[in-house]
Amino acid sequence: MTIAQNLGDILARIDAARKAAIQPAPATRLVAVSKTVDQDGIREALAAGQTLFGENRVQEAQGKFPALKNEHPDLELHLIGPLQTNKVKEAAALFDVIQTLDRAKLADALAVERQKSGRCPRLLLQVNTGEEPQKAGVLPGEAAALIAHARKLELPLEGLMCIPPADDDAAPHFAFLAKLARDHGLAQLSIGMSGDFELAVKFGATHVRVGTAIFGARS
Ligand SMILES: *Cc1c(COP(=O)(O)O)cnc(C)c1O
Repeated sequence: MTIAQNLGDILARIDAARKAAIQPAPATRLVAVSKTVDQDGIREALAAGQTLFGENRVQEAQGKFPALKNEHPDLELHLIGPLQTNKVKEAAALFDVIQTLDRAKLADALAVERQKSGRCPRLLLQVNTGEEPQKAGVLPGEAAALIAHARKLELPLEGLMCIPPADDDAAPHFAFLAKLARDHGLAQLSIGMSGDFELAVKFGATHVRVGTAIFGARS
């Protein structure tokens, strides 16, 4: 299967899952996760019509995407990995959306950067729904306070994102995040990866983040 065939297959499966869902989101967008994929692989996806990409490291994305964004002005890039405050300036310059806001300090740094440069990517808050110590994301019990903090700073907070524990059934995590988003009036929900994006659609995903099912296994 080529990248173009994989993309076609996944888009068709998203479409079918949306048709079967009782209450799908108004739209479900495919974020092609291109971490470790070289520019040629990304160009193949662009040639097939994919314009939305996700990367988990600022530095890797800086090496690949400025040129690709020049070639494709409609390319949209999301940061889906943890962000350190000392990389906020670079991230704000390159990414259209940061899906991994997870602490007050980072919200503060984004607000400062917006004041300095006028730039602030749209934001999703990452929630550590499995309360895994090694994983990024705000703990569920602290999410409301962080949402309030981001709103007080008037940051463009649009939704929530989570990565369920690898060995868990993802459904309760997706359901929890969907309810948290509803309770706080947040429209966007970034859930679902290669193994469970159809399930995520059922729970109202506005974004699914798919890597290996598009580009193949990462070495
Ligand atoms: C790598 C990654 C994905 C994609 O995972 P696949 O299983 O390859 O689809 C999705 N979300 C995040 C945050 C990732 O780091």
